[in-house]
Amino acid sequence: MSYLVLARKCRPTRFSEVVGQSHVTQTLANAIRMDRVAHGFLFSGVRGVGKTSLARILAKSLNCTDGPTDNPCGVCESCKTIADGTAVDVIEIDGASNNSVEDIRELRETVPYRPIIGRFKIYVIDEVHMLSVSAFNALLKTLEEPPPHVKFIFATTEPHKIPNTILSRIQRYDFRRISASAIIGRIKEILEEEGIHAEDAALAIVGREADGSMRDALSILDQVLAAGEKHITAEYVAQLLGVVGRQTYFELSRSLIEHTPARCLEIVQEIDRQGFDIPTFSKGLLEHLRNLVVAAVCGDDIDFLELPKEELAKLRQQAKATTNDSLHRIFKHVSQAHEEIARSSFPKILLEATLARVADLGDLVPAQEIVQRLESLARQLPATAPGGSPSQGPEKKNFNNPVAEVNRPSAGERGTAAASTDFAAPSAPSAHSRVSAPPSYGGPPSFDGMPKSTAPSAPPLTGWGMSNANPHSGPGEASASEATAPGAPLCKREWESMLAQLALKLPAKSSLLERANFSDKSTTSRIIIQFDKTDAFTAGQVQDRGMMADLERFFGEFFKQPVALQVEMCDLGNQSTLAQQRLKNQEALRKMEDAAKNHPVIRGFESALGGKISKVRLNK
Ligand SMILES: [Zn+2]
Repeated sequence: MSYLVLARKCRPTRFSEVVGQSHVTQTLANAIRMDRVAHGFLFSGVRGVGKTSLARILAKSLNCTDGPTDNPCGVCESCKTIADGTAVDVIEIDGASNNSVEDIRELRETVPYRPIIGRFKIYVIDEVHMLSVSAFNALLKTLEEPPPHVKFIFATTEPHKIPNTILSRIQRYDFRRISASAIIGRIKEILEEEGIHAEDAALAIVGREADGSMRDALSILDQVLAAGEKHITAEYVAQLLGVVGRQTYFELSRSLIEHTPARCLEIVQEIDRQGFDIPTFSKGLLEHLRNLVVAAVCGDDIDFLELPKEELAKLRQQAKATTNDSLHRIFKHVSQAHEEIARSSFPKILLEATLARVADLGDLVPAQEIVQRLESLARQLPATAPGGSPSQGPEKKNFNNPVAEVNRPSAGERGTAAASTDFAAPSAPSAHSRVSAPPSYGGPPSFDGMPKSTAPSAPPLTGWGMSNANPHSGPGEASASEATAPGAPLCKREWESMLAQLALKLPAKSSLLERANFSDKSTTSRIIIQFDKTDAFTAGQVQDRGMMADLERFFGEFFKQPVALQVEMCDLGNQSTLAQQRLKNQEALRKMEDAAKNHPVIRGFESALGGKISKVRLNK
């Protein structure tokens, strides 16, 4: 007797024997039991998932002498002839070779004739997507209203190529890829029947190589059994199929984790010498690394990987040998390189370079460990940071705000540091109290260079939408009555505060006034603005009628009384304007940045984290 390949010998004969497609078989079996069988079906799915087998089971169910039944007898003439493909009433057509409109017309002419022995005449068209457009059109009418004794079963691997007009006239069933564990389970049964023992790892290779197709799995099994071995090892199967053994992947990942580039290159050399395809090997490596990442992240709960138990245990063990971050990084590098390796003319060189680089990467320090290092640094801080006052002791351990720590370079610049750490709205009382001793350059620097430290709380300027202005009076601030008294002399702080408010509302106008000073004859109702005589251009801009009116309105609301403006030209000489102060502030800011970058604590951060300070930001 000639040898029957497993794919045919082990073809399922009942709905219950179809592996991995219960969503289809149950629906069909129910339809038969309830006598609600459609006249047309489409079975779609990748190769070898049971489409043709199920078409035959359905045909048997409909035509069995016991039927229609969801459990065909398998022994009647109809069942037997359908099983071996010789049934007269079941017409199997290969759509790939019979795809012309003439083929379909011929088929159509046979449709009206009644079946010979069965109940139904069943047309099974495989690869139906290969039919030409006119062939599909020729089929339409028949498909819409076939005689009651006719059923159509179409099978396809590419359902998207089938016209919607066809799809809307038939029932569609999408077949799934069969899971590796389902395939392995079925293979095991077959091997048991044959009296052959196989290692779990050997079955796993077959399951993996079958890639969701039972027919492929059975073909591979045929190949394995051809040698006549009674005990099948993983090594044997791997060799036979030209698959790299799992052991090699484990060895390679270990070399990556243990930073031994030389060993990695040896493995690639060996793989290449044995004639394995490098892109395929690289894909296998990627899958293996993915499994490792999954093992690292999911811990013991990784049975869904569908791998043999020993392999799962090994994955867990190897994943524990390094940090999750390191595994993520290895995977990232290899996956990026795989794209190139697959396309490259020199895949081996690329793979070698990638592995050498990944194996050579330094260990990643876990975030937790970094936190610990920082905390230990924090404990050392009182010794290393000069100039801290005892009252600020607890603050020192607050590493959420490293910039604040850095801004305490020396006792001489205490005011600056405090201002930059505790900078709040200009009206916040704390800002005033902390900046009791302004530094020599006239105010602590800030982003926009505005002398916020000397800005008192602004009186509310409702007309300008300054509803958020804080009416609170800080210590040493001009009281409201003083500020609004007509003719009261204008003081420097009021002037600066006013410009600060102006900068918020009308930045363009404020930048002009910042180049000016005010005459000491100025009062809160008559302000004399002085420009240096070399700056006639700016003075001219301010003297513009519309500009003067705007400014008078603004100042009037600020002081809550009518204000008259006057522009004077004079020799400002060494008198400092706000614009000059801003320059000074920027210079001071640069100095502070330098001081911060060179501070021993920041240096400590750099070495602990292994990074570089790229930007210093002052905390507002
Ligand atoms: Zn039967």
